[in-house]
Amino acid sequence: MNRINFLISKKNARIIDPCNFYCNGIFFLFLALILSGCAMRVSGPERTPAGQFSQSPAILPQGPIIDSNITLSEALKKYAPPGFKEKQGLVEVEYYSFDGKIHKGQLVIDKRLIEDIREVFRVALENKFPIASVIPISSERFLKNGKWNEDNQSMRANNTSGFNYRTVTGGKTLSKHAYGFAIDINPVQNPYIKGDVVLPAGAVYDISRPGTLRYDSPVVKCFIRLGWTWGGNWKSLKDYQHFEKVLLD
Ligand SMILES: [Zn+2]
Repeated sequence: MNRINFLISKKNARIIDPCNFYCNGIFFLFLALILSGCAMRVSGPERTPAGQFSQSPAILPQGPIIDSNITLSEALKKYAPPGFKEKQGLVEVEYYSFDGKIHKGQLVIDKRLIEDIREVFRVALENKFPIASVIPISSERFLKNGKWNEDNQSMRANNTSGFNYRTVTGGKTLSKHAYGFAIDINPVQNPYIKGDVVLPAGAVYDISRPGTLRYDSPVVKCFIRLGWTWGGNWKSLKDYQHFEKVLLD
């Protein structure tokens, strides 16, 4: 055996050395157990102090963003005669908002129209038609200088609302909103236009923008199918945000 053969033989001998083989094997087995234990701790459920397992918040399905969560009496706080208030109901609705997320809001409407509203919001959600927010007019966020809806806070906030004890725009007769027979949707994308008067001020009706209602929108078609009138179909003025269904007592 020359010197080179001796070195190769010695090297091979080290590789198959029984002690090294078992020591290395146990070391790697031990290492694998530690690593798998770490992996389980990272991805597995956490044990709470009470001893119960809870899922990591990161993998919980995200609930809707709450835009409004008030009681019926809070939603009817703004003045209206008792005879008008007692016919109103509060309906919870879910919708895609402009942030692409599902939101939850509330609408005050005549109790007999609640099922119609549920159907319209189901269609809006199914078609991912964005609705900015749905918050009752009596919400404190629309209270300004001790008065509700001064300068039409709700409309300028692009809020969708139903019941509102008030007169018609520019007139003295009661609006259909005063009876809970009407709803205004996304006022900023769907303004009221009569001659030079545009409400909310500065709003532009542009059918290419998301959240804008037009004659062939699924939401408009659904309202029409349910027997509602759309202000976008009126001739003397256009009230693109407005839908109404007048019920006889
Ligand atoms: Zn209206």
